[in-house]
Amino acid sequence: MSSDWMSKVAETLLPLSQEQQNIVKALREWKFTGDVIDFSSNDDDKEVNYEEYPPCELCGYPHIKTGYMIKNVFTGEELTIGCECIKKFSPEKEVDESHVLKCLNKLRWKRCKVNISSLEEYYQEEGAFTPKQLILVLNLFKKYNILYTPSCFKMKMRRDHEKSQLESLSDKEWDLIFPCLSPAQRRRRAE
Ligand SMILES: [Zn+2]
Repeated sequence: MSSDWMSKVAETLLPLSQEQQNIVKALREWKFTGDVIDFSSNDDDKEVNYEEYPPCELCGYPHIKTGYMIKNVFTGEELTIGCECIKKFSPEKEVDESHVLKCLNKLRWKRCKVNISSLEEYYQEEGAFTPKQLILVLNLFKKYNILYTPSCFKMKMRRDHEKSQLESLSDKEWDLIFPCLSPAQRRRRAE
């Protein structure tokens, strides 16, 4: 990252972040939400002039055709930024994670008796669920009719503990988590 870009965005980002001093730390609080906005046409599908495209809310670049939404996970602040700035926010994994967190958050409103916060914390720390956690979460989604994208939900299978969890799964549980699994994880079912 160029120091030029850093000093420019520090001005914008620090007041909106939990971290108030260190821009590198503050940047980590911001995630791409997966929302992409096309500014080249308006709601009636009419073309919009280039001069009317809004500026990047991060670096101030005057006209952006496509806007990418980033959000601070602590403060909830949101910014719409351009295609150059979004490159600084590692996309895929972050989008997956924000989708997982959004789905978990929906469970909060369903008054289910599961500790959602601890699931959120675990996922943010580990980047994946254990097999048992994944089954629990997917069953809750099913019960409460919450739509989710299975490929965003990662499962870990690194330690013996998780491997033995997998070996004890029923067919029904395998069917439930199967769409979330990587090819290597899927092969374990056949073993
Ligand atoms: Zn920018």
